[in-house]
Amino acid sequence: MEDCLFCKIIKKEIESQIVFENESVIAFKDINPQAPVHILIVPKEHFTSFLDVSYADTQLVIDIFQAAKKIAQKEGIAEKGFRFAVNVGDEGGQIIKHLHFHLLGGRQLSGSLG
Ligand code: AMP
Ligand code: ZN
Repeated sequence: MEDCLFCKIIKKEIESQIVFENESVIAFKDINPQAPVHILIVPKEHFTSFLDVSYADTQLVIDIFQAAKKIAQKEGIAEKGFRFAVNVGDEGGQIIKHLHFHLLGGRQLSGSLG
């Protein structure tokens, strides 16, 4: 989608630190990391939010979860634990309107999500 920052990153029009990529998913380092490991896992297809995902996208959802697992293992945070989170809409704290999942780890995360 035009004027979408993450679509531009996917098309490599904007630089990012890519840590994983396959046909359906890309993952890159968050530019403003909230933990030692902070990676964004992003479907290559533009979905404005989590609410746009349907049964037709079942394979994509599996791909995203598999990518998260692989990256967590590769980054060395799978054993100790990590957070895998998605912000939805304005009150959910979603700033970028292209579906993405945050993979956070490498430190003790607070129990509070607020
Ligand atoms: P959200 O608040 O869930 O929409 O998260 C958007 C995330 O994208 C934030 O954690 C930002 O730090 C991150 N971000 C914004 N621009 C970039 C960029 N050019 N490259 C990597 N991460 C970015
Ligand atoms: Zn997009």
